Amino acid sequence: MKSKPANKIQDLQFFGEFGGVNPSISDSSTYTFLSANSMSQTFEGNMEGCYLYSRNSSPSNLYLEEACAAMEGTEAANVFSSGMGAITSTILQICKSGDHIISSRTVYGGTYAFLKNFTPQIGIETDFVDITNINAIKNLVRKKTKIIYCEVSSNPLLEVADIESLSKIAKENGLKLIVDNTFTPLSISPAKFGADIVIHSLTKFINGTSDTIAGVVCSSKEFIHSLRDVNDGAFMLMGATMDSLRAASVLKNMRTLHIRMKKHGENAMYLAKSFEKDGIKTVYPGLKSHTSHKIFSKMMNETYGYGGMVTIDVGSLKKANMLMEKMQDKNLGYLAVSLGFYKTLFCAPGSSTSSEISDEEQGKMGLSEGLIRFSVGLDQDIERTYIGIKKCLKEFKLI
Ligand SMILES: *Cc1c(COP(=O)(O)O)cnc(C)c1O
Repeated sequence: MKSKPANKIQDLQFFGEFGGVNPSISDSSTYTFLSANSMSQTFEGNMEGCYLYSRNSSPSNLYLEEACAAMEGTEAANVFSSGMGAITSTILQICKSGDHIISSRTVYGGTYAFLKNFTPQIGIETDFVDITNINAIKNLVRKKTKIIYCEVSSNPLLEVADIESLSKIAKENGLKLIVDNTFTPLSISPAKFGADIVIHSLTKFINGTSDTIAGVVCSSKEFIHSLRDVNDGAFMLMGATMDSLRAASVLKNMRTLHIRMKKHGENAMYLAKSFEKDGIKTVYPGLKSHTSHKIFSKMMNETYGYGGMVTIDVGSLKKANMLMEKMQDKNLGYLAVSLGFYKTLFCAPGSSTSSEISDEEQGKMGLSEGLIRFSVGLDQDIERTYIGIKKCLKEFKLI
């Protein structure tokens, strides 16, 4: 497939007030109206292009939203102050008390906790499933089901969702398919395969500088408008609004996303292949040994690679911790959660980013305690990095 979503970002033209090459940053929380009538029209949502109050929308946020929608090939987008703000608003916009959600069992820890602990308090029930088991998902659909929720490449196990098949189930049953694409921006375009709503934590690869928390929902105009509705919009009423200054900053970083994703992908592929050759249990969708290699390859926009996330299993948490401390000591990366930074970041998800999931459930889903998740950085010389990591692995007799 030759689709290159980065072209769509590049082709957008936003000029600043004085012909600046970057759009002006809107520095206002509220906007004047020339007539009282246009103010009430805007309140009712009938005035395209008018700004009311920056919790609802602002010019700087709209530029970033246009870029995100262009990237995902959706009609519209809405930015949020965090990925979790985007996820929780979307779910609460669609589900009311008594409704039911089918979710992949391997989703971001915060999303899992929201569905497992928070939404049941307001009468929304979730079944967690192995997202690769299409038949099991079909069987779970009931009258009150509203959402199928998954991540393209799941965190941290990197299980790949067959978006086309999931979308078929969603369409047949009138459900919304929500796909969190945080791990694979540009590489995979979920809307192309029928996802109704695509969500990103912009905090990660898209912003890429680990200096902010941010999120986005990409979907139809209709859904985005519903989120912003002054009467019952979850975005408008819960208020996870992004600041204009930050929106301008994220937009500028987004313009180099295609170069960064390519490099993250190349470096991750190099490390994954090397680890596998060394006999370490390695999971990376770019490896032929990966259970979802074929389905990822079928869906991907080739230019951008298989993403920057790799996991290895070193057998125990103790070993994982020793290795990570050593690698940090040798300046091969940082022992930190999150992803998408220029520097390699690593953590043991079982005891950190996925600690919301109980030990028993972690065992069932194959999340072993010795698992280390790498967000592979933009290292200029990945061979040098690998040689450094190999030394650490040898020191602890892991290879
Ligand atoms: C980080 C992350 C989130 C949450 O985003 P925040 O910006 O931290 O709120 C959601 N999904 C995935 C896959 C993530 O990695």
